[in-house]
Amino acid sequence: MATIDVRLIFQTPLNIGSGAQQGTLADRAMIKDHRGWPYVPASALKGRLRHAVEQVVWGIGVEVCDTHHKMCRQEPGCPVCQVFGSPWLPGRLRFARLKLVGPDLLIERLEARREPPRTTQRYGVALSRRRGVAEDALLYTTELFEPGVELVFRGQLVGDLKLPQMALVLAGLKLLPALGRGKSGGLGWFRVEAEISGPGTEGLDTPAGVRAALETFRPSGTRQGTAQEASA
Ligand SMILES: [Zn+2]
Repeated sequence: MATIDVRLIFQTPLNIGSGAQQGTLADRAMIKDHRGWPYVPASALKGRLRHAVEQVVWGIGVEVCDTHHKMCRQEPGCPVCQVFGSPWLPGRLRFARLKLVGPDLLIERLEARREPPRTTQRYGVALSRRRGVAEDALLYTTELFEPGVELVFRGQLVGDLKLPQMALVLAGLKLLPALGRGKSGGLGWFRVEAEISGPGTEGLDTPAGVRAALETFRPSGTRQGTAQEASA
Protein backbone atom coordinates (compact mmCIF):
# COMPACT_ATOMS: atom_id res chain seq x y z
CA MET A 1 0.00 0.00 0.00
CA ALA A 2 1.19 3.45 -0.90
CA THR A 3 0.00 6.59 0.82
CA ILE A 4 0.21 9.98 -0.84
CA ASP A 5 -0.09 12.82 1.63
CA VAL A 6 -1.55 15.77 -0.27
CA ARG A 7 -1.57 19.38 0.84
CA LEU A 8 -3.29 22.05 -1.25
CA ILE A 9 -2.20 25.58 -0.34
CA PHE A 10 -4.74 28.01 -1.78
CA GLN A 11 -3.35 31.31 -2.99
CA THR A 12 -6.84 32.60 -3.78
CA PRO A 13 -10.18 31.91 -2.03
CA LEU A 14 -12.04 28.82 -3.16
CA ASN A 15 -15.67 27.87 -3.60
CA ILE A 16 -16.70 24.27 -4.09
CA GLY A 17 -20.36 23.30 -4.02
CA SER A 18 -21.85 19.86 -3.66
CA GLY A 19 -24.82 17.99 -5.08
CA ALA A 20 -26.66 18.38 -1.80
CA GLN A 21 -25.73 22.02 -1.34
CA GLN A 22 -26.02 23.12 -4.91
CA GLY A 23 -28.05 26.19 -4.05
CA THR A 24 -29.42 28.46 -6.68
CA LEU A 25 -27.50 30.59 -9.11
CA ALA A 26 -28.01 33.45 -6.66
CA ASP A 27 -26.36 31.62 -3.75
CA ARG A 28 -23.22 29.67 -4.40
CA ALA A 29 -22.54 28.17 -0.98
CA MET A 30 -19.26 26.50 -0.13
CA ILE A 31 -19.43 22.88 1.02
CA LYS A 32 -18.89 22.57 4.81
CA ASP A 33 -18.67 19.85 7.43
CA HIS A 34 -20.85 19.58 10.58
CA ARG A 35 -18.68 22.21 12.31
CA GLY A 36 -19.17 24.71 9.52
CA TRP A 37 -15.59 24.23 8.31
CA PRO A 38 -15.01 24.13 4.56
CA TYR A 39 -13.42 21.05 3.01
CA VAL A 40 -12.42 19.72 -0.40
CA PRO A 41 -14.64 16.72 -1.25
CA ALA A 42 -12.93 13.55 -2.42
CA SER A 43 -14.97 13.62 -5.64
CA ALA A 44 -13.78 17.13 -6.52
CA LEU A 45 -10.13 16.16 -6.22
CA LYS A 46 -10.62 12.81 -7.95
CA GLY A 47 -12.28 14.31 -11.02
CA ARG A 48 -9.65 16.99 -11.49
CA LEU A 49 -6.76 14.64 -10.82
CA ARG A 50 -8.04 12.07 -13.27
CA HIS A 51 -8.18 14.70 -15.98
CA ALA A 52 -4.64 15.84 -15.16
CA VAL A 53 -3.33 12.25 -15.25
CA GLU A 54 -5.00 11.73 -18.64
CA GLN A 55 -2.98 14.67 -19.91
CA VAL A 56 0.24 13.27 -18.46
CA VAL A 57 -0.27 9.94 -20.23
CA TRP A 58 -1.25 11.58 -23.51
CA GLY A 59 1.92 13.64 -23.21
CA ILE A 60 3.96 10.45 -23.07
CA GLY A 61 2.31 9.30 -26.28
CA VAL A 62 0.02 6.61 -24.88
CA GLU A 63 -3.66 6.56 -25.75
CA VAL A 64 -5.93 6.32 -22.76
CA CYS A 65 -9.57 6.96 -21.99
CA ASP A 66 -10.97 10.44 -22.14
CA THR A 67 -13.38 10.72 -19.24
CA HIS A 68 -15.94 12.63 -21.24
CA HIS A 69 -16.07 10.22 -24.17
CA LYS A 70 -15.25 6.66 -23.24
CA MET A 71 -13.91 4.55 -20.40
CA CYS A 72 -12.53 1.00 -20.30
CA ARG A 73 -15.07 -1.80 -19.97
CA GLN A 74 -12.67 -4.74 -19.63
CA GLU A 75 -9.63 -5.74 -17.58
CA PRO A 76 -6.87 -4.81 -17.47
CA GLY A 77 -7.95 -1.34 -18.57
CA CYS A 78 -5.78 1.58 -19.61
CA PRO A 79 -3.30 3.10 -17.12
CA VAL A 80 -5.80 5.77 -16.10
CA CYS A 81 -8.74 3.40 -15.52
CA GLN A 82 -6.44 1.09 -13.56
CA VAL A 83 -5.81 3.88 -11.09
CA PHE A 84 -9.15 5.72 -11.07
CA GLY A 85 -11.57 3.02 -12.15
CA SER A 86 -14.44 3.25 -14.62
CA PRO A 87 -18.13 2.44 -14.34
CA TRP A 88 -17.13 -1.17 -15.10
CA LEU A 89 -13.75 -1.53 -13.39
CA PRO A 90 -12.68 -0.84 -9.82
CA GLY A 91 -9.97 1.77 -9.28
CA ARG A 92 -6.91 1.16 -7.15
CA LEU A 93 -6.70 4.56 -5.48
CA ARG A 94 -8.96 5.61 -2.61
CA PHE A 95 -9.72 9.28 -2.11
CA ALA A 96 -10.66 10.93 1.16
CA ARG A 97 -11.85 14.45 1.77
CA LEU A 98 -9.20 17.10 2.32
CA LYS A 99 -9.66 18.87 5.61
CA LEU A 100 -8.77 22.43 6.56
CA VAL A 101 -5.51 22.18 8.55
CA GLY A 102 -3.81 25.53 8.15
CA PRO A 103 -2.47 28.08 8.53
CA ASP A 104 -1.66 27.27 12.17
CA LEU A 105 -2.75 30.63 13.58
CA LEU A 106 -6.17 30.35 11.98
CA ILE A 107 -6.73 26.79 13.21
CA GLU A 108 -5.63 27.73 16.74
CA ARG A 109 -8.05 30.67 16.76
CA LEU A 110 -10.96 28.60 15.48
CA GLU A 111 -10.36 25.76 17.92
CA ALA A 112 -9.88 28.10 20.89
CA ARG A 113 -13.11 29.94 20.15
CA ARG A 114 -14.96 26.88 18.84
CA GLU A 115 -16.23 28.83 15.89
CA PRO A 116 -16.26 28.23 12.15
CA PRO A 117 -14.07 30.26 9.78
CA ARG A 118 -15.37 33.65 8.73
CA THR A 119 -17.18 33.87 5.44
CA THR A 120 -17.80 36.71 3.05
CA GLN A 121 -19.90 36.99 -0.08
CA ARG A 122 -18.46 38.00 -3.40
CA TYR A 123 -20.96 39.51 -5.79
CA GLY A 124 -20.98 38.67 -9.44
CA VAL A 125 -23.21 39.27 -12.41
CA ALA A 126 -23.86 36.52 -14.92
CA LEU A 127 -24.27 37.63 -18.48
CA SER A 128 -27.30 36.56 -20.40
CA ARG A 129 -25.94 34.40 -23.19
CA ARG A 130 -28.87 35.23 -25.37
CA ARG A 131 -28.50 38.97 -25.32
CA GLY A 132 -24.97 39.42 -23.99
CA VAL A 133 -26.04 41.97 -21.42
CA ALA A 134 -26.19 41.97 -17.64
CA GLU A 135 -29.57 41.31 -16.08
CA ASP A 136 -30.56 42.05 -12.50
CA ALA A 137 -32.04 38.58 -12.16
CA LEU A 138 -28.61 37.05 -12.74
CA LEU A 139 -26.89 38.79 -9.83
CA TYR A 140 -25.33 36.08 -7.66
CA THR A 141 -23.16 35.73 -4.59
CA THR A 142 -20.28 33.35 -3.99
CA GLU A 143 -19.47 32.32 -0.45
CA LEU A 144 -15.76 32.57 0.37
CA PHE A 145 -13.89 31.66 3.56
CA GLU A 146 -11.28 33.89 5.17
CA PRO A 147 -10.27 35.89 2.07
CA GLY A 148 -6.63 36.94 2.17
CA VAL A 149 -5.59 33.87 4.17
CA GLU A 150 -3.76 31.03 2.40
CA LEU A 151 -5.94 28.14 3.48
CA VAL A 152 -4.29 24.73 3.62
CA PHE A 153 -6.27 21.53 3.02
CA ARG A 154 -4.78 18.12 3.65
CA GLY A 155 -5.79 14.54 2.95
CA GLN A 156 -4.43 11.12 2.03
CA LEU A 157 -4.77 9.08 -1.13
CA VAL A 158 -4.23 5.38 -0.43
CA GLY A 159 -3.90 2.59 -2.93
CA ASP A 160 -2.32 -0.64 -4.03
CA LEU A 161 -0.41 0.92 -6.93
CA LYS A 162 2.56 -0.17 -8.96
CA LEU A 163 5.51 2.19 -9.22
CA PRO A 164 4.62 3.69 -12.65
CA GLN A 165 1.03 4.24 -11.47
CA MET A 166 2.27 6.08 -8.40
CA ALA A 167 4.42 8.24 -10.68
CA LEU A 168 1.35 9.05 -12.78
CA VAL A 169 -0.57 10.25 -9.75
CA LEU A 170 2.34 12.37 -8.52
CA ALA A 171 2.84 13.92 -11.96
CA GLY A 172 -0.90 14.62 -12.22
CA LEU A 173 -0.93 16.34 -8.84
CA LYS A 174 1.75 18.72 -10.08
CA LEU A 175 -0.45 19.67 -13.03
CA LEU A 176 -3.52 20.58 -11.02
CA PRO A 177 -4.19 24.28 -11.49
CA ALA A 178 -7.36 25.13 -9.58
CA LEU A 179 -10.48 23.67 -8.01
CA GLY A 180 -14.09 24.74 -7.69
CA ARG A 181 -16.10 27.57 -9.16
CA GLY A 182 -14.90 30.86 -10.55
CA LYS A 183 -11.50 29.67 -11.75
CA SER A 184 -11.48 32.10 -14.64
CA GLY A 185 -12.33 34.82 -12.12
CA GLY A 186 -9.28 33.92 -10.07
CA LEU A 187 -10.88 31.69 -7.43
CA GLY A 188 -9.51 28.37 -6.22
CA TRP A 189 -5.90 28.57 -7.36
CA PHE A 190 -3.41 26.62 -5.29
CA ARG A 191 -0.05 24.96 -5.18
CA VAL A 192 0.35 21.30 -4.30
CA GLU A 193 2.69 19.56 -1.92
CA ALA A 194 2.63 15.76 -2.17
CA GLU A 195 4.65 13.19 -0.29
CA ILE A 196 4.50 9.48 -1.01
CA SER A 197 5.32 6.75 1.47
CA GLY A 198 5.06 2.98 1.62
CA PRO A 199 7.00 -0.07 0.43
CA GLY A 200 8.65 0.41 -2.96
CA THR A 201 8.04 4.16 -3.16
CA GLU A 202 11.63 5.21 -2.40
CA GLY A 203 12.50 5.93 -6.04
CA LEU A 204 9.78 8.54 -6.32
CA ASP A 205 11.08 11.13 -3.90
CA THR A 206 12.71 13.18 -6.67
CA PRO A 207 11.31 14.61 -9.94
CA ALA A 208 13.92 12.58 -11.83
CA GLY A 209 12.69 9.39 -10.20
CA VAL A 210 9.09 10.22 -11.17
CA ARG A 211 10.13 10.94 -14.78
CA ALA A 212 12.07 7.68 -15.02
CA ALA A 213 9.04 5.71 -13.75
CA LEU A 214 6.79 7.45 -16.30
CA GLU A 215 9.11 6.39 -19.12
CA THR A 216 7.96 2.80 -18.66
CA PHE A 217 4.60 3.81 -20.19
CA ARG A 218 6.21 5.12 -23.35
CA PRO A 219 5.65 2.79 -26.32
CA SER A 220 8.86 0.88 -27.10
CA GLY A 221 10.83 2.45 -29.93
CA THR A 222 9.84 5.96 -28.92
CA ARG A 223 11.72 6.12 -25.64
CA GLN A 224 13.69 9.25 -25.23
CA GLY A 225 16.97 9.72 -23.41
CA THR A 226 15.96 8.97 -19.88
CA ALA A 227 19.37 9.61 -18.43
CA GLN A 228 19.56 12.95 -20.16
CA GLU A 229 16.13 14.00 -18.90
CA ALA A 230 16.90 12.79 -15.42
CA SER A 231 19.99 14.98 -15.18
CA ALA A 232 18.20 18.04 -16.57
ZN1 LIG B 1 -9.47 3.44 -19.65
